[in-house]
Amino acid sequence: MVTRLYSHPIYLEHLTPPGHPERPDRLRAVERVLEDEKFSYLDRVQAPEGDPATILYAHPQPFVDKVRAAIPAEGIHKVDSDTSVSPRSWQAAITAIGAANAAVDDVFSGAADNVFVASRPPGHHAEKTTAMGFCLFNNAAIAARHAQKAHGAERVAIVDWDVHHGNGTQDIFWDDPSVLYCSTHQMPLYPGTGALNETGVGNIVNAPLAPRTGSDIFREAFGTRVLPAIEDFAPDLIIISAGFDAHHRDPLAEINLVEDDFDWATGQLMESASRHANSRLVSLLEGGYDLHGLAFSVAAHVGRLMRG
Ligand SMILES: [Zn+2]
Repeated sequence: MVTRLYSHPIYLEHLTPPGHPERPDRLRAVERVLEDEKFSYLDRVQAPEGDPATILYAHPQPFVDKVRAAIPAEGIHKVDSDTSVSPRSWQAAITAIGAANAAVDDVFSGAADNVFVASRPPGHHAEKTTAMGFCLFNNAAIAARHAQKAHGAERVAIVDWDVHHGNGTQDIFWDDPSVLYCSTHQMPLYPGTGALNETGVGNIVNAPLAPRTGSDIFREAFGTRVLPAIEDFAPDLIIISAGFDAHHRDPLAEINLVEDDFDWATGQLMESASRHANSRLVSLLEGGYDLHGLAFSVAAHVGRLMRG
């Protein structure tokens, strides 16, 4: 297996207020753990700058203009109570999109079997016209549309195991049967969406989990709701919205997963991808706010991507 890793120093320059959980140290912790010798075969590539026109795959131009206009010349500007931009945020966001789209290109060209993108800001809360939940633009949604437009993918599955529901991705694909969105998430929890009865045009599969859910119930939900939906859908590409805040150490939620659960879920999706999608699998970092839980969960996830 060739597993590619995209990163870029610009991702450290998207700044959030002091004490904010979505902070540059998250990526420093990820980079540190991936320096271990067992990741020496990772194909490390600096993320390319994205094409701003691809943002329009998921967001209308006036919204893009509004986000860009909110970027301050200095300091930090809040776009909502918990989402902010700093002078280099546009460049970070466009490079997160660049990496997500390049990852899609890589798995279709065969340059890599699978790809992990260690970027920020995250994306899954960004709705068509709303930046929220630490997210400016929806990286996973843009990458899914890029696969359709540039590579002729007919069906793309986005699997979101971040502990928060990806309201943004659900919003963008709500009436689009060419994209399957499956999410496991804690409920009740921010942002409040993700109930079982939110099904779009049959392309949305939500698996809400009660607080204090552990490995067994998570794996059951993943195995009985997410995996069969992917099996029926037979995607040409699987994109993972890979948040690691369902880890038991995470301060923002009360789900009790361990590193091995992310290894397991990764393996399940690799099997699905090998059956339907010529193994094409792209994983994009979303949340994860305990530095130890995040780093070791990423290590388990990427280790599985490399191992096959
Ligand atoms: Zn999250």
